[in-house]
Amino acid sequence: MWSIVLLAAAPAWGLVAPLAPAAGARSVSLHAVDPLTVGLGVVAAGGAAVVLGGEDTRDIDDKDEVEKYFNGETGFGRWNKIYSESDDVNGVQRDIRDGHAQTVDKVLDWADVEGKSVCDLGCGVGSLAIPLALRGATVSASDISAAMVREAGARAQAAGATSARFETLDLESATGSYDAVSCIDVMIHYPTDKMVGMVDRLCALSEETVFVSFAPNTPQLAVLKKIGSLFPGPSKATRAYLHKEADVEAALAKNGFKVKRKHLTSSNFYFSLLMEAVKA
Ligand code: SAH
Repeated sequence: MWSIVLLAAAPAWGLVAPLAPAAGARSVSLHAVDPLTVGLGVVAAGGAAVVLGGEDTRDIDDKDEVEKYFNGETGFGRWNKIYSESDDVNGVQRDIRDGHAQTVDKVLDWADVEGKSVCDLGCGVGSLAIPLALRGATVSASDISAAMVREAGARAQAAGATSARFETLDLESATGSYDAVSCIDVMIHYPTDKMVGMVDRLCALSEETVFVSFAPNTPQLAVLKKIGSLFPGPSKATRAYLHKEADVEAALAKNGFKVKRKHLTSSNFYFSLLMEAVKA
């Protein structure tokens, strides 16, 4: 019976995802899962695919879970494949790959990085850091997952991106001063209060520009959450959090950054709102 409801709910999610922001991220019960095993009823934003589930009352450390997930075969293996040109992906994964590529392309389109220093936080396998370096930026990229960082380093070498360096680092421990700071599809792993602290860090590191993307909260989620609450509890892997556009904008504004432009990428299984903010 549950699977029938899930099948019915899945297309609705894809259709409603792009609409306007609403309720608090904390109250939304979504769980990141592996898109390969779930297929329908799943939506993704960057390093997470989320499926509707019941209330999640687990007492877990998000950062700890995320680090383990992206170092293990489940997370690293899947996302390394999605963020590649491998044919060994299903339709959902391909959709997520294409959506993510649009977000990355938008940053590359907006950013004028020739001769600039860029800090890419939560760099994954280097999908943004490598092309930035190839466009003449000096890139300091880091990620909490050592597996991701190793892969990014290997890809950079293969691509001849010599002006990018990679290190394993929690973004909250990043230091330095850069012309631009980017953090793409990372905030989905953290609740809003954590996101705000992370945006503080991005802004502290940037002299000029911040690029940040996240899965935006929408009013439709409230409806989907209701449907979701019909389902039995949390699934595997990491939790996923949506953020209100206004919360992210306020976090940037608090640090003296004003949003210059935004772009929403939304497909059936991927949605991510990208903001470019500049120091006021
Ligand atoms: N920004 C990359 C990767 C997105 S996937 C891209 O768009 O291609 C999300 C990434 O965030 C994962 O690689 C994960 O390990 C990383 N991450 C999650 N929490 C982090 C944190 N606290 N500090 C640094 N990296 C983090």
